[in-house]
Amino acid sequence: AETWEQVPLAPEDSIFKLTAGYKADTHPNKVNLGVGAYRDNDNKPWVLPVVRKAQRIIADDTSLDHEYLPITGLASFTSAAAKLILGADSDSLKEGRAVSIQTISGTGANHSGALFLSRFYNFNGSKQIYLSNPTWANHHAIFRNVGIEPVDYSYYDPKTVGLDFDGFIGSLKSAPERSVFLLHACAHNPTGVDPTQDQWKAIADIFLERGHYAFFDCAYQGFASGDLDRDAWALRYFFGKGIPGLVCQSFAKNAGLYGERVGALHVIPPSKEAADRVKSQISVLQRSEISNPPTYGARIVSLILNDEALFAEWKRDIVTMAERIISMRKELFRLLTEELKTPGSWNHITDQIGMFSFTGINPSQSKAMTENAHIYLTTNGRISMAGLNTHNVRYVAESLDKVAR
Ligand code: PLP
Repeated sequence: AETWEQVPLAPEDSIFKLTAGYKADTHPNKVNLGVGAYRDNDNKPWVLPVVRKAQRIIADDTSLDHEYLPITGLASFTSAAAKLILGADSDSLKEGRAVSIQTISGTGANHSGALFLSRFYNFNGSKQIYLSNPTWANHHAIFRNVGIEPVDYSYYDPKTVGLDFDGFIGSLKSAPERSVFLLHACAHNPTGVDPTQDQWKAIADIFLERGHYAFFDCAYQGFASGDLDRDAWALRYFFGKGIPGLVCQSFAKNAGLYGERVGALHVIPPSKEAADRVKSQISVLQRSEISNPPTYGARIVSLILNDEALFAEWKRDIVTMAERIISMRKELFRLLTEELKTPGSWNHITDQIGMFSFTGINPSQSKAMTENAHIYLTTNGRISMAGLNTHNVRYVAESLDKVAR
């Protein structure tokens, strides 16, 4: 028999397949609403001006070499990244009990967090993680890879194209005590639907009551509201209440460093003594997986976070991205409701936040958009707001209008 005869052909990744379809399409009005990456108003990738500056500083700094970083990464990066997400005045940082390691972007942080829990979390019965229904598709694979079985929790209500708050609360209450729940820190992917602060508070109360563990995934800090602190509000509130948890941090979107793979995992144990033990074990795991994380992207982010002027400039760049996305939401909403008078309610377009929006259209309507109008989107009706711009928003609105009638 042939050596790999027993290997079945895996299906193509649906997002990458979508992008390939878009690239091959020669229609002049084609639109890609599948991508999870920011585009400027001319549909071009955007290297943040502050990142360009940091690159030049690095290029001119002859003291920098290509030696290995420590296993846990570039310390000036991880400590500044921890402050950025946890808040400089957070109890966990003041008490020296946040464990921070540099990871291969947000995906690597999710993997390292999952692996650590798989080895060391005191699961109540079988190894399970509760994931929002729906969630970023990769979550399922990441947890399965380390032997943790994903279980759905209620999150999205197709009837309101909003949060199924009662369902969410019901899932939290009926899960066994000490269950692990993955929470999107802000700008939920794929729905764009986040709980309000009051809803987060009610959710936190149940975490405390039931002793649940909060596995925060934060891939869009700054992207949701344009404000880094506001977007970290929920996780800071949880950790401030003493809810056990961790947070996965990515600089792919908010610094536009997608391919550089810059991220961090921050685990928040209850004491400094526990933090030392956790850190020692995470280091052992990291050593066997990647030995040492990569330097380049971490140097860029470290420079930006540790320099007052660069940090201020970065915040302005984030506002540029967030505001362009918000203006596209408003324009799409205006076209649908005021100009085209498209049937149905479209409030969710402006209520939802972050890079993505669930339009509420069904798979056959999504397919019709692609086949008839050359507009590429996932069949669940999710569109990337970053793919919209002043040149194509009317065309997209008109085709949404056609499929909605
Ligand atoms: N988590 C969520 C919810 C995401 O949407 C993404 C990216 O799309 C990631 C994590 C990880 O992205 P990266 O590994 O590029 O940081």
